[in-house]
Amino acid sequence: MKVRVLGCSGAIAHGCRTTSFLLDHDVLIDAGTGVGDLTLDEMAQIDHVLLTHSHLDHVASLPLMLDAVAARRLSAGAQPLQVHALPGTIAALKAHIFNNLIWPDFSAIPSAERPLMRFVPIAVGEVLQVCGKAVEVLPAVHTVPAVGFAANTPSGHWVFSGDTGRNPAFWQRVNQLPVALLVIETAFSDREEALAQRSLHLAPGLLAEEL
Ligand SMILES: [Zn+2]
Repeated sequence: MKVRVLGCSGAIAHGCRTTSFLLDHDVLIDAGTGVGDLTLDEMAQIDHVLLTHSHLDHVASLPLMLDAVAARRLSAGAQPLQVHALPGTIAALKAHIFNNLIWPDFSAIPSAERPLMRFVPIAVGEVLQVCGKAVEVLPAVHTVPAVGFAANTPSGHWVFSGDTGRNPAFWQRVNQLPVALLVIETAFSDREEALAQRSLHLAPGLLAEEL
C-alpha cells in the first residue's frame, strides 16, 4: 500500500496544508486542505473517505472535493463516495456543513436514491474493508468524537492517531499490532504543552510520556 501525505501542517499558509493522507489512489484518510493538491482525475478516483473527527482542518476539502468531481463521477456512473465516520461526526457534518446553508447536502444530490455521497457510521474496534484494504478503527480522546485508524499492509500496519490527548486505549491496541509506520498528530509544541492538554491534543513531551 502506498501512502501519500497530502497535508500534515497544523494550519494553512504558503506550502502548508492541513491533515490528509491518500492510501493508494482510492482511499482518503481525513480531508484537510492538502486534498487541493490532487488533480481532478486523482480526486475522482477516491471512493472512500475515512474521517477521524469533524474539526475543520480535517474535513475542509470534503465539500469542495465533492463539488469538483461531481460531473465526472456522475458521467462515469460511479458509486456514491462513501464517507466513513463516527455517528457524532456524521451528525456534525450534516448539521453544520451539508445543511444547504453552508454547502448543499450531497447525500441527497442528485437524488436521495442515488446521491454523490453516502455517510457510513463506524465504531471503535470495527475493521473496515475498503478497496481491498482492511482498516481498523482505533480509539481517540479529543474535544469531539474522534478515532484513529490502522491500515493493514503486507509489511505491517500503517497507524494514524488523528487528534488525540492522552490515550491509553490507543496504545494498548497499537502494542498488539505489527506496526510498520506510526503517524501521531502533535498539534502543539512543548512550549504550548498546557494548551495541548487543555484542548486534548499531544505535544512532543506529552507523547514521549505516553510511549
Ligand atoms: Zn481536532
